[in-house]
Amino acid sequence: MRLVVLGGGESGVGTAILGKKKGYDVFLSDFGKIKENYKEVLLINEIDWEDEKHTEELILNADVVMKSPGIPDKVAIVKKLKDKQIPVISEIEFAAQFTEAITIGITGSNGKTTTTMLTYHLLKSGGLNVGLAGNIGKSFAWQVADEDFDVYVLELSSFQLDGIINYKPHIAILTNISPDHLDRYEYKYENYIASKFRITMNQTEDDYFIYDADDETTTNWLKNNKTKAQLIPFSLKQKHQMGGFINNDTMEMYINEEEFTMETKTMALEGKHNMKNAMAATSVAQLMRIRKQTIRESLSNFQGVEHRLERVLKIQNVQYINDSKATNVNATFFALDSMSTPTVWIVGGVDKGNDYSELMSLVREKVKAIICLGVDNKKIIDAFGNVVDVMVEVTTMSDAVRTAQHLTEKGDTVLLSPACASFDLFENYEDRGRQFKQAVRNL
Ligand code: ADP
Repeated sequence: MRLVVLGGGESGVGTAILGKKKGYDVFLSDFGKIKENYKEVLLINEIDWEDEKHTEELILNADVVMKSPGIPDKVAIVKKLKDKQIPVISEIEFAAQFTEAITIGITGSNGKTTTTMLTYHLLKSGGLNVGLAGNIGKSFAWQVADEDFDVYVLELSSFQLDGIINYKPHIAILTNISPDHLDRYEYKYENYIASKFRITMNQTEDDYFIYDADDETTTNWLKNNKTKAQLIPFSLKQKHQMGGFINNDTMEMYINEEEFTMETKTMALEGKHNMKNAMAATSVAQLMRIRKQTIRESLSNFQGVEHRLERVLKIQNVQYINDSKATNVNATFFALDSMSTPTVWIVGGVDKGNDYSELMSLVREKVKAIICLGVDNKKIIDAFGNVVDVMVEVTTMSDAVRTAQHLTEKGDTVLLSPACASFDLFENYEDRGRQFKQAVRNL
């Protein structure tokens, strides 16, 4: 069997290693440049590869092709493979067939990483032999080749789900859906929605589907489509027979006749969106029979994830918060929503088609000044110019943070939650978040 791997990054190299171990004739091809450390790994494992080209004779003779999630379907080589009816699958599909482990698949537009890390933390604290993979750290395929976990918590992007055929998670979480990545879905929201719901398409009556019952896109889909999985909703608004609910200041969970309650103020994560993430992760912990005491402790000592509503420092009684990962309006909505003191808001960057009107009432209520940190800030100024008295444009992070400091008084918050991608002024959102933290430390 010939396995061709397109893309020489983490998931591609992991798949090549697993394929080799399972006896495939493996060839890896990357149209870009492969990083040196991955080239070394390929060499050590005696895997044939090429980069900066796709040689058709070496690719179109494949029995199966694993395409990295970063490669769009519209590129020429993928089209040719599809014309020849050669199966093109994702790393998750390829690797899942070689492990007996239970997998927990987590997808959604926002909250994937936070929910994945929290779920992993809960299961690991509960003593399970559990691995963490998907979009995080060492690839799933590589771990299937090298490790021996009983359970995996997988963060799954829609691109990974596009390439599944038989894969099913025993427990699926869909955190929420809002428009994102539409450039990869012919600018059709319904295509993106369909892609997210592939997470449940192979699930059976023995499996579980955990979802946000307050999310209209999700509930509409469930009304009009079928999944065999047992449904576990969570909600801020409504109690369901099964699932999670925030009743005033208490998280109430009912899963398989087991009840678990916890005061939200004793949890480490803050903000309504994080209560949703906590309910989703706790549902998994309960399904996996983690002890209540362990769940309680883990929810109160979870460290959070860098760049997601991360508290940086308090200086002269002003709290600085790094939410650089908020690259769309929905994420920023929840950040502003969780602010409890007057806020100086640092926003801007590369706009992916934002509609700022959703934020209007929160901005009116909470934001005392806006600092625009982007090359083109026109949309932000047009949207909020009449709502907020103070608006300043800057082009470096240190200017943004120094300006913010001048505009604050004791008890205020400075929030970096850009609602935009970072590529105009920064390398990526991590770079933007790190620069923010450094600038705060320099004050
Ligand atoms: P993802 O991996 O899906 O991008 P993250 O956990 O990295 O999600 O969070 C991305 C951004 O979305 C952060 O700004 C975070 O504060 C915000 N966020 C986290 N959970 C949710 C949620 N359930 N709903 C909306 N926004 C969220």
